[in-house]
This record gives sequence, C-alpha cells and structure tokens, in this order.
Amino acid sequence: MTIKNNLQKIKNSLPKKVTLVAVSKTKPIEDLMEAYKAGQRIFGENKVQEIVNKHPQMPLDTKWHMIGHLQRNKVKYLAPFIDLIHGIDSLKLLKEINKQAIKHDRIIKGLIQIKISNEITKFGMTAEEAREMFYSKEFKTLNNIKIIGVMGMASFTTNKSQIKKEFLNLKLIFDSYKEFNPTMEVVSMGMSGDYNLAIECGSNMIRIGSSIFGIR
Ligand SMILES: *Cc1c(COP(=O)(O)O)cnc(C)c1O
Repeated sequence: MTIKNNLQKIKNSLPKKVTLVAVSKTKPIEDLMEAYKAGQRIFGENKVQEIVNKHPQMPLDTKWHMIGHLQRNKVKYLAPFIDLIHGIDSLKLLKEINKQAIKHDRIIKGLIQIKISNEITKFGMTAEEAREMFYSKEFKTLNNIKIIGVMGMASFTTNKSQIKKEFLNLKLIFDSYKEFNPTMEVVSMGMSGDYNLAIECGSNMIRIGSSIFGIR
C-alpha cells in the first residue's frame, strides 16, 4: 500500500466532522510530500527540532501541529508558524506560549492535555487542575493563546473496554468545559490502533501515524 492509498482509505471511512492529523514524526520529507499531494494539509510532529527542520521544506499552506510534550524553552522556535499545540499541561507553559505569540503578533491555538490513563509516564493535567486553571485570574489575561479543546492519550493496552472508558471520560470532561467556554470545539483523541473507537466516543480530531506512513 502506498501513502496515498492509506490516506484515502482512512479519509473515506471518517465522518465529515473528524479532522485527520497525519503524524509524520521520523518520516522523510518525500513521505510528507506524497501525503501533501494526496490532499493532506495537517501534519503532526512530536519534536520541536523536527518540525523546525521540516517546516521550511514543505509548501506554505501546510499546517503544523505539535503533538508531543513541549518544553517551555522551545516554544520560541514554534511560535512563528505553529497552527495548533496539542500537549499543553501547565499554566507556566501557557504563559510562555502567550508571551511568544505576542512577539509574533499571533494568536496561537492550543489544546489542554488531560491525563486520562492511569500510567505514571503520561503527561497531562487532571480535569480538576485544568478547570482551576481556566478559572484563575491569570488565565483570563492570556489573550494571545486560544484554548480550543482537549487532547488525551489512552493507556497502552489491548484492553478495549479500558480504552473506551478513558475516551468517554475525556469526552465528558470536554463537555463540562464547553458548557462554560463555547470556544471549545476540539477533542483530540485516537491513534492508528484505536481511532475508530475514539470517534465512537466523541473524538473529532485523530492523530494517525503508522497507518498512513507505515511502521516507524
Ligand atoms: C506518534 C503519536 C501518534 C501516532 O501514533 P500511531 O500509532 O503511529 O498512529 C499520535 N499521537 C501522539 C501524541 C504521538 O506521539
């Protein structure tokens, strides 16, 4: 199967409201270009250095999503062009993104990463921590970052009912935020192995790597 075929097969199976992020980490520009030529515009990477290297090599209308853990001291490299930052997990990081966005006269979009698995290695805030942050005075002063939703990663397990429970939980958390914050629109959950289940549970943004580009 070619990248183009993989992409078309996935796209044809997706409900209209679901946005596909093509996760191109570790893959060469030729692979990204093949996806681009097949109509894909949104690409996800998890390393700042890799996005910064690839960004100038791709057409201008390519949209870049940072899906990995983002260190505060590296925000400045992404601020000029990043379209969406998925993994925001602290007020400190938000403040830095806001500061760098001001420098570039941009409003940067972001998702709050919520910890939905019970694995200790996963990044993210608890639902309560995020809610507290939304209501803090400081949060309200951050005018150059726009939080448009949440992101989560399910536990690394083959236990489908466990994964489903975690996805449904993230959707519930999203709904509770959306009640008070109508600008919330994105639920980013689901990868190659579990995106159909994620969509069933209310995802409207999926991050797919290996099912498009092959194993890494
Ligand atoms: C690598 C990665 C993906 C894509 O994983 P696949 O299993 O290859 O689809 C999705 N989300 C995040 C945060 C990732 O790091």
